[in-house]
Amino acid sequence: MAANPFTEEHQLLRTSFRQFIEKEITPHAEEWEKNKICDRGTFSKMGEHGFFGVSFPLKYGGSGMDLWSAVVIAEELSHANIGGLSMSFFAHTYLPLPLINALGTEEQKQNYLVPALKGEKIAALGITEAGAGSDVGGIKTTAKDMGDHYLVNGSKMFITNGTMADFIVLAVRTGEGHNLSLLLFDTSTPGFSAIPVHNKLGMHTSDTGQLFFENCKVPKSALIGKENAGFYYIMNNFQEERLIAAINGTSSADWAVGKAKQYMKEREAFGKPIAKFQVLRHKLAQMSISVEACRSFSYRAVSEFIEKGPEAALIISMAKAFVGEESFKIINDALQIHGGWGYMEDYGVARALRDTRLLSVGAGTTEIMHEIISRVIIDEVEHKRQLINVRS
Ligand SMILES: Cc1cc2nc3c(=O)[nH]c(=O)nc-3n(C[C@H](O)[C@H](O)[C@H](O)COP(=O)(O)OP(=O)(O)OC[C@H]3O[C@@H](n4cnc5c(N)ncnc54)[C@H](O)[C@@H]3O)c2cc1C
Repeated sequence: MAANPFTEEHQLLRTSFRQFIEKEITPHAEEWEKNKICDRGTFSKMGEHGFFGVSFPLKYGGSGMDLWSAVVIAEELSHANIGGLSMSFFAHTYLPLPLINALGTEEQKQNYLVPALKGEKIAALGITEAGAGSDVGGIKTTAKDMGDHYLVNGSKMFITNGTMADFIVLAVRTGEGHNLSLLLFDTSTPGFSAIPVHNKLGMHTSDTGQLFFENCKVPKSALIGKENAGFYYIMNNFQEERLIAAINGTSSADWAVGKAKQYMKEREAFGKPIAKFQVLRHKLAQMSISVEACRSFSYRAVSEFIEKGPEAALIISMAKAFVGEESFKIINDALQIHGGWGYMEDYGVARALRDTRLLSVGAGTTEIMHEIISRVIIDEVEHKRQLINVRS
């Protein structure tokens, strides 16, 4: 892997996205956080500027750049310290859309991928249920084959963009055991309803929904890929989501180190700046080491993913587990350096801590990452044996 994977094109993207954030996102951040939902218009603006589609094919309205362009977007959003918006955007772009891009029919791509990249339609990925999260094979929402259509019944929990979404890539049970399928579910379908889940610790700007499906008629043309292959598609797709999560965690922690450094220089105690206390200087040094470790780890995982696709699952799971835990510790240390002010909302570190806590739970918990890693290194289970390459 090159020491600096970013080209001049990536740097230009970074500059223009940073300007976009300053103009279109930062001024509204507090309001969205208070309202516990972002403005729908911000999706259209992201789409108009092409920021959703950076790594998607030109043919569908993307920019055709590599995955490092998505890393640029993730890093800049996390540096703006509005984790909820970042999550909402990535739950739109890097959870459902890669599945449509890799497996969808031309009609599905034109009807869903193209408008989603333009920000005209909002997307979500609906897998988790109140009774099944880590255990994807335990979901109970069913799609009954009615000949010319499916009849969908059940419910989903904790779905990001759940109440805003125009469509959901929906995991449904079409048979026993791991026989799951993915449907492109239009939220205008009669029998569908959604309510917001507001009692979250953090990520307040993101819309989290509980979804209900009552005798929803879904045309057969909504099936993504093959019937009963959904479980494997989901497992593959998690890789991209976990990579982005690792990048987000690293960038948030980097932001927090910057804030802590600034505060140490400004704040005085016992007649001198707290930056003069060796214990804090060393704490900041250790935090910086940890950020670099997170960055190296996640960049290596991105590189391997570009090279091998979902077969890079081992390093991706390691990076996700490591960054998920480490970034929380780094931000917690940044809060400590801010003393009582860190516990207040004024410096943004409290929000970063709340938001980052999700990283070791969402997109596969740390325990599940450990489970995947131990299966590979102890039982020597090859990942490629378990996975179907959705890119092929
Ligand atoms: C804010 C938010 C947004 C989310 N957005 C989405 C979304 O957009 N789409 C979506 O589908 N889901 C979403 N999720 C769901 C998220 O992916 C799940 O919460 C997560 O996968 C954990 O599942 P669970 O909550 O059912 O916990 P459980 O699976 O019930 O886990 C409970 C505990 O048991 C542990 N555990 C479970 N199985 C094992 C095992 N085999 N070995 C060891 N330990 C184990 C877990 O690590 C955890 O500590 C979101 C969740 C949140 C909180």
